[in-house]
Amino acid sequence: MTVNGNSIRQFRDSLRGQLLVPENEGYDEARQVFNAMIDRRPALIVRCAHVTDVIAAVNFARETELPIAVRGGGHSVLGSAVCDEGLVIDLSGMTNVSVDPDKRTARAAGGTTWGDFDRATQAYGLATTGGIVPSTGIGGLTLGGGIGRLNRKYGLACDNLLSAEVVTADGTLVTASVDEHEDLFWGLRGGGGNLGVVTSFEYRLHPVGPVLGGEIIFPLDQARTALRFYRDWSTDAPDELRADATLVSTPDGPGLAFEVCYCGEIDAGEKVLRPLRQLGSPMLDTIDSVPYATVQNLLTEVFQPGMRHYWKSGFVREFSDDAINAIVDFFVADMPAPFAAIAIEHLGGAVSRVETHDTAFAYRQAKHSILVLRMWDDPADSETNIAWGRRCYARAEPFLEGGAYVNYLGDEGETRVRAAYGANYERLVALKNKYDPANVFRFNQNIKPTSDMPLSAHQT
Ligand SMILES: Cc1cc2nc3c(=O)[nH]c(=O)nc-3n(C[C@H](O)[C@H](O)[C@H](O)COP(=O)(O)OP(=O)(O)OC[C@H]3O[C@@H](n4cnc5c(N)ncnc54)[C@H](O)[C@@H]3O)c2cc1C
Repeated sequence: MTVNGNSIRQFRDSLRGQLLVPENEGYDEARQVFNAMIDRRPALIVRCAHVTDVIAAVNFARETELPIAVRGGGHSVLGSAVCDEGLVIDLSGMTNVSVDPDKRTARAAGGTTWGDFDRATQAYGLATTGGIVPSTGIGGLTLGGGIGRLNRKYGLACDNLLSAEVVTADGTLVTASVDEHEDLFWGLRGGGGNLGVVTSFEYRLHPVGPVLGGEIIFPLDQARTALRFYRDWSTDAPDELRADATLVSTPDGPGLAFEVCYCGEIDAGEKVLRPLRQLGSPMLDTIDSVPYATVQNLLTEVFQPGMRHYWKSGFVREFSDDAINAIVDFFVADMPAPFAAIAIEHLGGAVSRVETHDTAFAYRQAKHSILVLRMWDDPADSETNIAWGRRCYARAEPFLEGGAYVNYLGDEGETRVRAAYGANYERLVALKNKYDPANVFRFNQNIKPTSDMPLSAHQT
């Protein structure tokens, strides 16, 4: 089938949601994603209202050999939620969340954001590990692994996934769980968007809140001592604590910010946090007993859509004094204009109690990850900001493992993609050969199938 006025009309008539072409009002808004560096012009955008729209879109794209991009929350810094000249399956209108408080489970549609999800589950005092910025989509985040403030107590977002409804490359709707399509279920937990369009995710929930959370910020001249303390304290901390350490330059000046969330008994949390709060002379300390929603919104103001982003990340292999000196020296000597950050995120705990091969997410043993982040507004500043991000990462790189977190990876080439899937790459290739041999789902951190079937010939 070719893409022409007739085929587009028929396709539009088959949808419950909206089909946008470049001439339509709303097209330009619909092609924007969180990272303003991305400026792509899809041929068609399907704003799906129902699972049947997703099936129709996958079938139409396959039959017309249009490449497909899948949009959940649109947060990927890579910008893989949109593509040039292809078809975007936009799930952002599919946001229903239903909670079963007795079973402690929630089912959320594929375009839900963590803000929507947390609001629905916190109504029952429940939550699961999710993104630390509410506008992030559950889709991309869960499929890539999903780190968040509860990860040390309850594991990654993907570790809490109980089942998923998936439209595969041949347009079939299947359920993936430990009981059905178990191989696909394994691949969805860390394999990114490579294996199909997930129309709904079912999660395990946990009682969460109030938590002991907030920020404590030290001046830069105390950063070295505070980071040495943090390395030992966070490594030995109980699972209830997640504490991130971020060298940050903001319009209010530079500093070292610790952002903490203790999801257990408040009294016990006070004891755990006391040594941090008694360290040096902080400029600010907002740590208090607060609803989980309060900590989940700590970064909402900082991460507004429409800004330009450059990110680079890795898992920490060696958190030595040399590593601390290297990043602090760099930050002080090459002081960036706002907004820049070197964030050390707190892993370990329940994340590391799942075996490397139990899910597609491979980096289970790292205790910390590091994220170099640059955010700016003016396109004229792009070159300078990207160059700073690269210089900064180069200083941190000797202390990192070779791999990367799929969800933080930019457009960094095939070697880095393979490294990000790490020890599970070959098994993911086998799954790609089985579920998407024509690589219909290719706008992602792509696992290339080893079969070379054309898109239109793929029927199972
Ligand atoms: C401000 C900000 C904060 C972040 N915070 C965190 C964090 O706390 N923890 C963390 O782990 N990551 C975090 N990330 C990274 C985040 O996990 C990725 O950007 C992820 O891709 C976002 O998912 P999304 O659905 O919003 O992305 P999108 O850009 O919509 O999608 C990215 C890719 O995911 C796939 N995809 C998305 N939804 C579906 C679906 N329903 N079915 C099939 N494929 C799908 C597609 O391949 C798509 O190309 C953050 C990113 C940003 C920009």
